[in-house]
Amino acid sequence: MLLYNSATRRKDELVTREAGKVAMYTCGPTVYHFAHIGNLRTYAMEDVLEKYLRYLGYEVRRVMNITDVGHLTSDGDTGEDKMLKGAKREHKTVLEIAKFYTDAFFEDCKALNISVPDVVEPATNCIDDFIDMVSTLLDKGYAYIAGGNVYFDTSRLEKYYIFNDFSEEDLAVGVRESVEEDGNKRNKADFVLWFTKSKFDDQELKWDSPWGIGYPGWHIECSCIAKRHLGEYLDIHCGGIDNAFPHHTNEIAQSEAAFGHEWCRHWFHVHHLNTGSGKMSKSKGEFLTVSLLKERGYDPLVYRFFCMQSHYRKNLVFTWENLDNAKTAYNKLVAKIASLKADPADEIDSNAFEEGRARFTAALDNDLNTSVAVTALYDALKLKTNDATKLALIADFERVLDLGLIEAAKRLNEQTNDETPAVDGELVRYIEAKIKERADAKAAKNYALADAVRAELAERGITLIDTKDGTKYTVN
Ligand code: AMP
Ligand code: ZN
Repeated sequence: MLLYNSATRRKDELVTREAGKVAMYTCGPTVYHFAHIGNLRTYAMEDVLEKYLRYLGYEVRRVMNITDVGHLTSDGDTGEDKMLKGAKREHKTVLEIAKFYTDAFFEDCKALNISVPDVVEPATNCIDDFIDMVSTLLDKGYAYIAGGNVYFDTSRLEKYYIFNDFSEEDLAVGVRESVEEDGNKRNKADFVLWFTKSKFDDQELKWDSPWGIGYPGWHIECSCIAKRHLGEYLDIHCGGIDNAFPHHTNEIAQSEAAFGHEWCRHWFHVHHLNTGSGKMSKSKGEFLTVSLLKERGYDPLVYRFFCMQSHYRKNLVFTWENLDNAKTAYNKLVAKIASLKADPADEIDSNAFEEGRARFTAALDNDLNTSVAVTALYDALKLKTNDATKLALIADFERVLDLGLIEAAKRLNEQTNDETPAVDGELVRYIEAKIKERADAKAAKNYALADAVRAELAERGITLIDTKDGTKYTVN
Protein backbone atom coordinates (compact mmCIF):
# COMPACT_ATOMS: atom_id res chain seq x y z
CA MET A 1 0.00 0.00 0.00
CA LEU A 2 1.23 3.49 -0.83
CA LEU A 3 0.60 6.05 1.87
CA TYR A 4 1.60 9.69 1.86
CA ASN A 5 4.15 10.31 4.57
CA SER A 6 4.37 13.89 5.81
CA ALA A 7 7.91 13.24 7.03
CA THR A 8 9.28 12.29 3.59
CA ARG A 9 6.71 14.40 1.70
CA ARG A 10 5.93 11.61 -0.76
CA LYS A 11 3.80 8.52 -1.05
CA ASP A 12 5.81 5.73 0.60
CA GLU A 13 5.24 2.01 0.42
CA LEU A 14 3.95 1.05 3.86
CA VAL A 15 6.67 -1.09 5.38
CA THR A 16 6.14 -2.00 9.00
CA ARG A 17 8.86 -2.88 11.45
CA GLU A 18 7.43 -6.30 12.16
CA ALA A 19 5.98 -8.03 9.11
CA GLY A 20 2.20 -8.25 9.29
CA LYS A 21 1.90 -5.97 12.33
CA VAL A 22 1.16 -2.28 12.66
CA ALA A 23 1.85 -0.17 15.73
CA MET A 24 -0.44 2.82 15.29
CA TYR A 25 -0.76 5.90 17.48
CA THR A 26 -3.48 8.53 17.29
CA CYS A 27 -3.62 11.88 19.04
CA GLY A 28 -6.90 11.78 20.91
CA PRO A 29 -9.30 14.59 21.71
CA THR A 30 -8.82 17.39 24.21
CA VAL A 31 -11.90 16.72 26.30
CA TYR A 32 -12.98 20.23 27.29
CA HIS A 33 -15.88 20.43 24.86
CA PHE A 34 -17.83 18.33 22.39
CA ALA A 35 -15.89 17.14 19.37
CA HIS A 36 -16.94 19.06 16.28
CA ILE A 37 -17.48 17.30 12.98
CA GLY A 38 -14.07 18.59 11.81
CA ASN A 39 -12.34 16.65 14.59
CA LEU A 40 -14.49 13.70 13.66
CA ARG A 41 -13.44 13.91 10.02
CA THR A 42 -9.90 13.22 11.22
CA TYR A 43 -11.03 10.28 13.36
CA ALA A 44 -13.25 8.87 10.60
CA MET A 45 -10.37 8.88 8.11
CA GLU A 46 -8.02 7.31 10.65
CA ASP A 47 -10.68 4.69 11.29
CA VAL A 48 -10.82 3.83 7.59
CA LEU A 49 -7.05 3.55 7.51
CA GLU A 50 -7.13 1.18 10.48
CA LYS A 51 -9.96 -0.88 9.00
CA TYR A 52 -8.21 -1.11 5.65
CA LEU A 53 -5.00 -2.31 7.28
CA ARG A 54 -6.99 -4.99 9.08
CA TYR A 55 -8.76 -5.84 5.80
CA LEU A 56 -5.32 -6.35 4.24
CA GLY A 57 -4.57 -8.82 7.01
CA TYR A 58 -2.37 -6.70 9.28
CA GLU A 59 -2.57 -7.19 13.00
CA VAL A 60 -3.10 -3.60 14.14
CA ARG A 61 -2.52 -2.31 17.64
CA ARG A 62 -3.90 1.18 17.94
CA VAL A 63 -3.40 3.49 20.89
CA MET A 64 -5.07 6.83 21.57
CA ASN A 65 -4.49 9.32 24.35
CA ILE A 66 -7.14 11.47 25.94
CA THR A 67 -5.82 14.96 26.58
CA ASP A 68 -7.16 15.91 29.99
CA VAL A 69 -4.28 18.16 31.08
CA GLY A 70 -1.57 20.38 29.61
CA HIS A 71 -3.11 21.54 26.31
CA LEU A 72 -3.00 25.32 26.50
CA THR A 73 -5.17 27.68 24.54
CA SER A 74 -2.33 28.21 22.12
CA ASP A 75 -0.72 25.00 20.90
CA GLY A 76 2.55 26.39 22.22
CA ASP A 77 3.32 27.23 25.80
CA THR A 78 1.12 30.20 26.46
CA GLY A 79 -2.45 30.66 27.48
CA GLU A 80 -4.72 29.00 29.94
CA ASP A 81 -5.14 25.23 30.15
CA LYS A 82 -8.06 24.28 27.91
CA MET A 83 -9.44 21.84 30.47
CA LEU A 84 -9.45 24.47 33.19
CA LYS A 85 -11.18 26.89 30.88
CA GLY A 86 -13.86 24.28 30.15
CA ALA A 87 -14.32 23.50 33.85
CA LYS A 88 -14.77 27.19 34.70
CA ARG A 89 -17.28 27.61 31.87
CA GLU A 90 -19.41 24.81 33.26
CA HIS A 91 -18.76 25.29 36.98
CA LYS A 92 -17.48 21.75 37.27
CA THR A 93 -14.17 20.15 38.16
CA VAL A 94 -11.65 19.31 35.47
CA LEU A 95 -12.14 15.60 36.05
CA GLU A 96 -15.91 15.93 35.77
CA ILE A 97 -15.73 17.63 32.41
CA ALA A 98 -13.03 15.20 31.24
CA LYS A 99 -15.33 12.26 31.99
CA PHE A 100 -18.37 13.93 30.45
CA TYR A 101 -16.67 14.91 27.19
CA THR A 102 -14.73 11.66 26.88
CA ASP A 103 -18.02 9.75 27.04
CA ALA A 104 -19.60 12.21 24.60
CA PHE A 105 -16.66 11.72 22.20
CA PHE A 106 -17.07 7.96 22.12
CA GLU A 107 -20.84 8.30 21.69
CA ASP A 108 -20.15 10.42 18.61
CA CYS A 109 -17.62 7.89 17.38
CA LYS A 110 -20.20 5.13 17.79
CA ALA A 111 -22.75 7.09 15.77
CA LEU A 112 -20.17 7.43 12.99
CA ASN A 113 -19.03 3.78 13.13
CA ILE A 114 -15.59 4.87 14.31
CA SER A 115 -14.11 2.00 16.33
CA VAL A 116 -12.67 2.53 19.77
CA PRO A 117 -8.87 2.00 19.62
CA ASP A 118 -7.37 -1.03 21.36
CA VAL A 119 -6.00 1.23 24.08
CA VAL A 120 -7.40 4.58 25.22
CA GLU A 121 -5.24 6.29 27.82
CA PRO A 122 -5.98 9.55 29.65
CA ALA A 123 -2.90 11.69 30.17
CA THR A 124 -3.59 12.10 33.89
CA ASN A 125 -3.02 8.31 34.32
CA CYS A 126 0.58 8.58 33.19
CA ILE A 127 2.25 11.28 35.29
CA ASP A 128 5.11 8.96 36.36
CA ASP A 129 5.84 8.16 32.72
CA PHE A 130 6.11 11.88 31.91
CA ILE A 131 8.42 12.50 34.85
CA ASP A 132 10.62 9.57 33.73
CA MET A 133 10.98 10.86 30.17
CA VAL A 134 11.61 14.44 31.26
CA SER A 135 14.31 13.15 33.66
CA THR A 136 15.92 11.19 30.82
CA LEU A 137 15.93 14.28 28.61
CA LEU A 138 17.56 16.31 31.38
CA ASP A 139 20.15 13.56 32.02
CA LYS A 140 20.99 13.40 28.32
CA GLY A 141 21.36 17.18 28.08
CA TYR A 142 18.33 17.73 25.83
CA ALA A 143 16.44 19.71 28.44
CA TYR A 144 17.10 22.55 30.86
CA ILE A 145 15.39 24.19 33.80
CA ALA A 146 14.60 27.89 33.66
CA GLY A 147 12.25 30.01 35.74
CA GLY A 148 10.85 26.89 37.40
CA ASN A 149 9.85 25.14 34.16
CA VAL A 150 11.63 22.35 32.29
CA TYR A 151 12.22 23.13 28.60
CA PHE A 152 13.31 21.04 25.64
CA ASP A 153 16.45 22.48 24.05
CA THR A 154 15.80 22.37 20.30
CA SER A 155 19.32 23.64 19.52
CA ARG A 156 20.62 20.18 20.49
CA LEU A 157 18.95 18.61 17.47
CA GLU A 158 20.42 18.38 14.00
CA LYS A 159 16.99 18.75 12.46
CA TYR A 160 13.98 20.03 14.37
CA TYR A 161 11.48 21.01 11.66
CA ILE A 162 10.49 17.66 10.22
CA PHE A 163 7.34 18.45 8.27
CA ASN A 164 7.99 21.87 6.85
CA ASP A 165 10.87 24.14 6.19
CA PHE A 166 9.93 26.71 8.77
CA SER A 167 12.47 29.38 9.43
CA GLU A 168 13.02 30.54 12.99
CA GLU A 169 12.09 34.04 11.92
CA ASP A 170 8.72 32.98 10.58
CA LEU A 171 7.88 31.24 13.78
CA ALA A 172 5.55 32.99 16.13
CA VAL A 173 6.63 32.00 19.61
CA GLY A 174 3.15 31.73 21.05
CA VAL A 175 1.99 29.85 17.95
CA ARG A 176 -1.28 30.81 16.34
CA GLU A 177 -3.48 32.48 18.88
CA SER A 178 -1.21 34.78 20.83
CA VAL A 179 2.38 35.76 20.40
CA GLU A 180 4.06 36.14 23.70
CA GLU A 181 7.78 35.96 24.42
CA ASP A 182 8.82 33.52 27.13
CA GLY A 183 12.07 34.96 28.43
CA ASN A 184 13.11 31.61 29.90
CA LYS A 185 13.52 29.98 26.52
CA ARG A 186 17.05 29.73 25.15
CA ASN A 187 15.80 29.28 21.60
CA LYS A 188 12.56 30.43 20.07
CA ALA A 189 11.38 26.93 19.23
CA ASP A 190 12.08 25.45 22.68
CA PHE A 191 8.99 24.14 24.42
CA VAL A 192 7.88 23.25 27.93
CA LEU A 193 8.10 19.66 29.15
CA TRP A 194 6.97 20.35 32.70
CA PHE A 195 5.42 23.50 34.10
CA THR A 196 5.75 24.67 37.67
CA LYS A 197 5.34 28.33 36.85
CA SER A 198 2.75 29.57 34.48
CA LYS A 199 0.76 32.76 34.36
CA PHE A 200 -2.24 30.62 35.24
CA ASP A 201 -1.31 29.37 38.63
CA ASP A 202 -4.81 28.35 39.56
CA GLN A 203 -4.29 25.14 37.54
CA GLU A 204 -6.58 22.63 39.21
CA LEU A 205 -4.59 19.44 38.73
CA LYS A 206 -0.97 19.46 39.84
CA TRP A 207 1.49 16.75 40.76
CA ASP A 208 4.71 16.57 42.67
CA SER A 209 7.85 16.17 40.58
CA PRO A 210 11.63 16.47 41.02
CA TRP A 211 11.24 20.05 39.69
CA GLY A 212 8.45 21.12 41.99
CA ILE A 213 4.69 20.84 42.00
CA GLY A 214 3.29 21.33 38.54
CA TYR A 215 1.88 19.70 35.45
CA PRO A 216 3.12 18.25 32.15
CA GLY A 217 3.27 19.96 28.78
CA TRP A 218 0.87 18.67 26.14
CA HIS A 219 3.46 17.18 23.77
CA ILE A 220 5.19 14.93 26.31
CA GLU A 221 1.98 13.01 26.92
CA CYS A 222 1.82 11.52 23.44
CA SER A 223 5.49 10.47 23.42
CA CYS A 224 5.04 8.73 26.77
CA ILE A 225 1.65 7.12 26.15
CA ALA A 226 2.90 5.76 22.84
CA LYS A 227 5.96 4.33 24.59
CA ARG A 228 3.91 2.83 27.41
CA HIS A 229 1.68 0.84 25.06
CA LEU A 230 3.67 0.43 21.84
CA GLY A 231 7.30 0.54 22.93
CA GLU A 232 9.99 2.67 21.33
CA TYR A 233 8.92 2.20 17.70
CA LEU A 234 5.78 3.25 15.88
CA ASP A 235 4.77 2.35 12.35
CA ILE A 236 2.08 5.00 11.84
CA HIS A 237 1.31 8.14 13.79
CA CYS A 238 -1.95 9.92 12.94
CA GLY A 239 -3.53 13.28 13.57
CA GLY A 240 -5.09 16.31 11.97
CA ILE A 241 -2.76 18.45 9.86
CA ASP A 242 -2.76 21.24 12.46
CA ASN A 243 -1.03 18.80 14.81
CA ALA A 244 2.01 18.51 12.52
CA PHE A 245 3.45 21.65 14.04
CA PRO A 246 4.22 22.21 16.84
CA HIS A 247 2.68 19.10 18.45
CA HIS A 248 4.07 16.27 16.32
CA THR A 249 7.32 18.09 15.66
CA ASN A 250 7.83 18.28 19.42
CA GLU A 251 6.78 14.67 19.95
CA ILE A 252 9.49 13.59 17.50
CA ALA A 253 12.08 15.82 19.15
CA GLN A 254 11.40 14.37 22.60
CA SER A 255 10.99 10.74 21.63
CA GLU A 256 14.05 10.53 19.40
CA ALA A 257 16.19 12.42 21.90
CA ALA A 258 15.05 10.10 24.70
CA PHE A 259 15.32 6.84 22.73
CA GLY A 260 18.39 7.68 20.65
CA HIS A 261 16.88 6.37 17.40
CA GLU A 262 14.24 7.06 14.78
CA TRP A 263 10.81 6.77 16.36
CA CYS A 264 8.02 6.62 13.77
CA ARG A 265 8.14 5.76 10.07
CA HIS A 266 4.88 7.08 8.66
CA TRP A 267 3.11 10.30 9.53
CA PHE A 268 -0.51 10.33 8.44
CA HIS A 269 -2.17 13.74 8.55
CA VAL A 270 -5.79 14.44 7.73
CA HIS A 271 -6.56 17.85 6.27
CA HIS A 272 -9.20 20.13 7.63
CA LEU A 273 -12.90 20.40 7.45
CA ASN A 274 -13.56 24.05 6.74
CA THR A 275 -16.65 26.15 6.85
CA GLY A 276 -17.17 29.16 4.64
CA SER A 277 -15.30 31.25 7.23
CA GLY A 278 -12.27 28.96 7.57
CA LYS A 279 -11.16 26.04 9.74
CA MET A 280 -13.76 24.71 12.10
CA SER A 281 -12.36 24.98 15.60
CA LYS A 282 -13.50 24.26 19.11
CA SER A 283 -11.90 27.37 20.51
CA LYS A 284 -13.94 29.61 18.22
CA GLY A 285 -16.96 28.34 20.12
CA GLU A 286 -19.23 27.98 17.10
CA PHE A 287 -19.04 24.53 15.69
CA LEU A 288 -21.11 21.71 14.38
CA THR A 289 -21.62 18.55 16.36
CA VAL A 290 -23.05 15.10 15.68
CA SER A 291 -26.03 15.99 17.89
CA LEU A 292 -26.79 18.97 15.69
CA LEU A 293 -26.69 16.76 12.59
CA LYS A 294 -29.14 14.40 14.27
CA GLU A 295 -31.39 17.28 15.35
CA ARG A 296 -31.55 18.41 11.77
CA GLY A 297 -32.64 14.98 10.69
CA TYR A 298 -29.36 13.65 9.25
CA ASP A 299 -28.20 10.11 9.90
CA PRO A 300 -24.62 10.59 11.21
CA LEU A 301 -23.50 7.94 8.71
CA VAL A 302 -24.41 10.37 5.94
CA TYR A 303 -21.64 12.56 7.34
CA ARG A 304 -19.25 9.60 7.28
CA PHE A 305 -20.23 9.07 3.64
CA PHE A 306 -19.62 12.77 2.97
CA CYS A 307 -16.10 12.36 4.41
CA MET A 308 -15.41 9.24 2.34
CA GLN A 309 -16.35 11.08 -0.84
CA SER A 310 -13.25 13.24 -0.58
CA HIS A 311 -9.56 12.47 -0.20
CA TYR A 312 -8.12 12.91 3.28
CA ARG A 313 -5.30 15.14 2.00
CA LYS A 314 -7.68 17.73 0.62
CA ASN A 315 -9.47 20.33 2.65
CA LEU A 316 -13.16 19.60 2.74
CA VAL A 317 -15.71 22.38 2.75
CA PHE A 318 -18.78 21.80 4.82
CA THR A 319 -22.08 23.37 3.81
CA TRP A 320 -25.59 22.09 4.46
CA GLU A 321 -26.07 21.92 0.74
CA ASN A 322 -23.03 19.65 0.35
CA LEU A 323 -24.35 17.46 3.14
CA ASP A 324 -27.78 17.34 1.49
CA ASN A 325 -26.13 16.14 -1.71
CA ALA A 326 -24.36 13.41 0.25
CA LYS A 327 -27.66 12.48 1.89
CA THR A 328 -29.41 12.15 -1.47
CA ALA A 329 -26.56 10.03 -2.86
CA TYR A 330 -26.50 7.87 0.28
CA ASN A 331 -30.25 7.27 0.18
CA LYS A 332 -30.11 6.34 -3.49
CA LEU A 333 -27.29 3.92 -2.79
CA VAL A 334 -29.25 2.33 0.03
CA ALA A 335 -32.33 2.03 -2.19
CA LYS A 336 -30.24 0.40 -4.90
CA ILE A 337 -28.81 -2.11 -2.44
CA ALA A 338 -32.29 -2.76 -1.01
CA SER A 339 -33.50 -3.66 -4.49
CA LEU A 340 -30.93 -6.45 -4.89
CA LYS A 341 -32.57 -9.82 -4.55
CA ALA A 342 -30.15 -12.52 -3.59
CA ASP A 343 -31.43 -16.02 -3.89
CA PRO A 344 -29.68 -18.28 -1.35
CA ALA A 345 -29.17 -20.72 -4.21
CA ASP A 346 -27.14 -18.18 -6.21
CA GLU A 347 -23.46 -18.83 -6.30
CA ILE A 348 -20.93 -16.05 -5.98
CA ASP A 349 -19.38 -15.35 -9.34
CA SER A 350 -15.73 -15.39 -8.37
CA ASN A 351 -14.46 -13.60 -11.49
CA ALA A 352 -16.80 -10.66 -11.00
CA PHE A 353 -16.07 -10.64 -7.29
CA GLU A 354 -12.33 -10.42 -7.89
CA GLU A 355 -12.82 -7.75 -10.54
CA GLY A 356 -14.88 -5.59 -8.17
CA ARG A 357 -12.50 -6.14 -5.31
CA ALA A 358 -9.44 -5.28 -7.42
CA ARG A 359 -10.90 -1.84 -8.18
CA PHE A 360 -11.61 -1.22 -4.54
CA THR A 361 -8.17 -2.24 -3.29
CA ALA A 362 -6.43 -0.36 -6.11
CA ALA A 363 -8.15 2.80 -4.89
CA LEU A 364 -7.22 2.34 -1.26
CA ASP A 365 -3.72 1.08 -2.03
CA ASN A 366 -3.14 4.43 -3.69
CA ASP A 367 -2.87 6.63 -0.61
CA LEU A 368 -6.22 5.61 0.84
CA ASN A 369 -8.25 7.13 -1.93
CA THR A 370 -11.69 6.67 -0.41
CA SER A 371 -13.48 8.74 -3.02
CA VAL A 372 -12.31 6.33 -5.75
CA ALA A 373 -13.18 3.45 -3.42
CA VAL A 374 -16.75 4.81 -3.21
CA THR A 375 -16.80 4.89 -7.01
CA ALA A 376 -15.67 1.25 -6.95
CA LEU A 377 -18.71 0.54 -4.82
CA TYR A 378 -21.01 2.10 -7.43
CA ASP A 379 -19.14 0.13 -10.11
CA ALA A 380 -19.75 -3.09 -8.21
CA LEU A 381 -23.49 -2.48 -8.43
CA LYS A 382 -23.17 -2.12 -12.20
CA LEU A 383 -21.16 -5.31 -12.80
CA LYS A 384 -22.70 -7.83 -15.14
CA THR A 385 -23.23 -10.46 -12.51
CA ASN A 386 -25.86 -11.81 -10.14
CA ASP A 387 -27.18 -9.93 -7.12
CA ALA A 388 -25.56 -12.34 -4.67
CA THR A 389 -22.14 -11.35 -5.98
CA LYS A 390 -22.99 -7.66 -5.78
CA LEU A 391 -24.17 -8.05 -2.20
CA ALA A 392 -21.04 -9.98 -1.32
CA LEU A 393 -18.92 -7.18 -2.74
CA ILE A 394 -20.81 -4.50 -0.82
CA ALA A 395 -20.43 -6.50 2.40
CA ASP A 396 -16.72 -6.87 1.67
CA PHE A 397 -16.19 -3.13 1.07
CA GLU A 398 -18.22 -2.29 4.12
CA ARG A 399 -15.58 -3.97 6.29
CA VAL A 400 -13.57 -0.84 5.50
CA LEU A 401 -15.98 1.96 4.61
CA ASP A 402 -18.44 0.97 7.34
CA LEU A 403 -21.26 3.17 6.08
CA GLY A 404 -24.06 1.03 7.50
CA LEU A 405 -25.37 0.46 3.95
CA ILE A 406 -26.54 -3.10 4.37
CA GLU A 407 -28.35 -2.40 7.64
CA ALA A 408 -30.00 0.69 6.12
CA ALA A 409 -31.09 -1.33 3.07
CA LYS A 410 -32.56 -3.97 5.37
CA ARG A 411 -34.43 -1.32 7.34
CA LEU A 412 -35.74 0.18 4.13
CA ASN A 413 -37.05 -3.20 2.96
CA GLU A 414 -38.69 -3.82 6.33
CA GLN A 415 -40.30 -0.37 6.27
CA THR A 416 -41.65 -0.86 2.77
CA ASN A 417 -43.07 -4.20 3.80
CA ASP A 418 -44.72 -2.77 6.89
CA GLU A 419 -47.82 -0.74 6.56
CA THR A 420 -47.03 2.94 6.40
CA PRO A 421 -47.50 4.30 9.92
CA ALA A 422 -50.80 6.02 10.30
CA VAL A 423 -50.47 9.78 10.18
CA ASP A 424 -53.68 11.40 11.30
CA GLY A 425 -55.25 14.36 9.58
CA GLU A 426 -54.30 16.80 12.29
CA LEU A 427 -50.64 15.84 12.08
CA VAL A 428 -50.68 16.14 8.30
CA ARG A 429 -52.13 19.63 8.55
CA TYR A 430 -49.52 20.59 11.13
CA ILE A 431 -46.66 19.29 8.98
CA GLU A 432 -47.96 20.97 5.87
CA ALA A 433 -48.31 24.28 7.67
CA LYS A 434 -44.75 23.96 8.90
CA ILE A 435 -43.46 23.11 5.43
CA LYS A 436 -45.13 26.24 4.15
CA GLU A 437 -43.73 28.32 6.99
CA ARG A 438 -40.25 27.05 6.15
CA ALA A 439 -40.66 27.68 2.43
CA ASP A 440 -41.84 31.25 3.17
CA ALA A 441 -38.89 31.78 5.53
CA LYS A 442 -36.48 30.56 2.86
CA ALA A 443 -38.06 32.80 0.25
CA ALA A 444 -37.56 35.73 2.63
CA LYS A 445 -33.93 34.56 3.15
CA ASN A 446 -34.68 34.01 6.82
CA TYR A 447 -32.58 30.84 7.02
CA ALA A 448 -32.46 30.86 10.81
CA LEU A 449 -36.24 30.50 10.92
CA ALA A 450 -36.19 27.88 8.17
CA ASP A 451 -33.64 25.86 10.15
CA ALA A 452 -35.63 26.28 13.35
CA VAL A 453 -38.75 24.88 11.65
CA ARG A 454 -36.79 21.88 10.39
CA ALA A 455 -35.34 21.33 13.88
CA GLU A 456 -38.79 21.59 15.49
CA LEU A 457 -40.12 18.90 13.18
CA ALA A 458 -37.03 16.72 13.67
CA GLU A 459 -37.67 16.79 17.40
CA ARG A 460 -41.07 15.23 16.73
CA GLY A 461 -39.49 12.55 14.55
CA ILE A 462 -40.45 14.23 11.28
CA THR A 463 -37.72 14.45 8.66
CA LEU A 464 -38.06 16.83 5.75
CA ILE A 465 -36.69 15.79 2.38
CA ASP A 466 -36.29 18.50 -0.26
CA THR A 467 -36.87 17.05 -3.70
CA LYS A 468 -37.28 18.64 -7.09
CA ASP A 469 -41.03 18.12 -6.69
CA GLY A 470 -41.15 20.03 -3.41
CA THR A 471 -40.58 19.14 0.22
CA LYS A 472 -41.59 15.64 1.28
CA TYR A 473 -41.40 14.16 4.76
CA THR A 474 -41.08 10.97 6.70
CA VAL A 475 -42.54 10.31 10.15
CA ASN A 476 -40.75 7.93 12.50
P1 AMP B 1 -8.35 18.42 19.67
O1 AMP B 1 -9.50 17.78 20.38
O2 AMP B 1 -8.48 19.89 19.50
O3 AMP B 1 -7.02 18.06 20.32
O4 AMP B 1 -8.34 17.84 18.19
C1 AMP B 1 -8.61 16.49 17.90
C2 AMP B 1 -8.18 16.15 16.49
O5 AMP B 1 -8.96 16.86 15.52
C3 AMP B 1 -6.73 16.49 16.17
O6 AMP B 1 -6.18 15.41 15.43
C4 AMP B 1 -6.82 17.75 15.33
O7 AMP B 1 -5.73 17.88 14.49
C5 AMP B 1 -8.11 17.47 14.55
N1 AMP B 1 -8.78 18.68 14.05
C6 AMP B 1 -8.96 19.87 14.67
N2 AMP B 1 -9.68 20.74 13.90
C7 AMP B 1 -9.97 20.07 12.74
C8 AMP B 1 -10.70 20.39 11.53
N3 AMP B 1 -11.32 21.57 11.37
N4 AMP B 1 -10.79 19.44 10.57
C9 AMP B 1 -10.20 18.22 10.74
N5 AMP B 1 -9.52 17.86 11.85
C10 AMP B 1 -9.40 18.75 12.84
ZN1 ZN C 1 -0.47 13.87 20.29
